[in-house]
Amino acid sequence: MHVLIAGGGIVGCMTAMELVTRGCRVTIVERNQVASQTSGESSWAGGGILFPLLPWIYSDVVNRLTMTGIRFYPEICRRLKQETGIDPELQQSGMLILPQYDQAAAQNWCQAWKLPAEKASACAFGVASPEGDDALWLPTVSQARPPYVMQALRKWLEQNGVTLLERTELKPLSGETRLQAWETVDGRRLAADKFVVTSGAWSFDLLKETASKLKIKPMRGQILLYRPQKNLEHMVYREGFYMIPRKDGLLLAGSTLEDVGFDPATTESARAELSAKAAAIMPELQGLPILKHWSGLRPGTPENLPAISAHPQIENLFLNTGHFRYGLTMAPGSAKIVSALICGEEPFLDPAPFACP
Ligand SMILES: Cc1cc2nc3c(=O)[nH]c(=O)nc-3n(C[C@H](O)[C@H](O)[C@H](O)COP(=O)(O)OP(=O)(O)OC[C@H]3O[C@@H](n4cnc5c(N)ncnc54)[C@H](O)[C@@H]3O)c2cc1C
Repeated sequence: MHVLIAGGGIVGCMTAMELVTRGCRVTIVERNQVASQTSGESSWAGGGILFPLLPWIYSDVVNRLTMTGIRFYPEICRRLKQETGIDPELQQSGMLILPQYDQAAAQNWCQAWKLPAEKASACAFGVASPEGDDALWLPTVSQARPPYVMQALRKWLEQNGVTLLERTELKPLSGETRLQAWETVDGRRLAADKFVVTSGAWSFDLLKETASKLKIKPMRGQILLYRPQKNLEHMVYREGFYMIPRKDGLLLAGSTLEDVGFDPATTESARAELSAKAAAIMPELQGLPILKHWSGLRPGTPENLPAISAHPQIENLFLNTGHFRYGLTMAPGSAKIVSALICGEEPFLDPAPFACP
């Protein structure tokens, strides 16, 4: 079976990996380049925290998808590193949650989901905590480094016979009941047996004529990069803001959540806001050069609930899109669900809550 995947971000690449493992022939069509950031693609830009920040505010359905993704990452990263030589830098660096947060809800959730959690002193972790010292330490929370995950995936897909059709843009679909071929903006017709939309924030553009109830819109996020003299040893979260230390001494500070359409610009106001939040936790960052400042467009959906399902009318078209804030975390689980649906198998998770409206 030949499957054509529309979009080569983390979701498209992990879907391709899963389909290849199941014996399918796969083509990824990407209007830019796989594993690069050209105009707002989300996967390269993400922080790489493999955890839904405050899981106790999300539904069980979202948490089941993120928690399965987390479970699959060690095996995927081991395989990518071994077979491509590129290290996705998966590491269990733990996450410290600083006040204010709902302590009772956090503790109940961690108990129910058997996630190790301890009360901790922010001061003992060497960070400033403007709202009090009562922090929560989550030692098993992991991170991976998105540009390296993407490079490793790209190499693995090439090694395993996946065709990457880059700089090739697909046109929006119109109302057929079965797709023979998908037309590109330069007039080519790309044939396949089955098709999957993994086009991130741009998915609604491709589907608006055929799945008008689908709610996906771009939500911009910006991140700053520092190299402090002494880096954090753990990830730190405080009221919507986080810092992620990398193995090579770099430190990410992010991110914003902005409803500004398809504008991938970085802004002075976000730079000021993020650097003030970073310095409130690590005063030594005050005045330190910002090495880089970037943005990405998340595929925003109500409640962070992606669509992982068959298309409501086009019988050989599938959707795997709308992972919003947690696409890096959710990608392994959602790739397995959509691949099972494509191959006519029973998915490991009930797909009903992810049905396209
Ligand atoms: C600042 C920021 C921080 C984040 N931090 C985290 C985090 O710590 N943890 C986490 O789990 N998630 C995080 N995320 C979210 C995560 O990055 C996204 O949910 C995820 O990358 C979405 O992946 P995707 O493959 O659906 O989209 P994308 O990576 O955007 O890929 C979609 C691809 O489709 C292509 N495409 C679109 N239209 C067409 C077309 N017509 N024809 C051909 N190709 C097309 C695009 O060029 C693009 O490459 C973060 C996001 C941002 C922006």
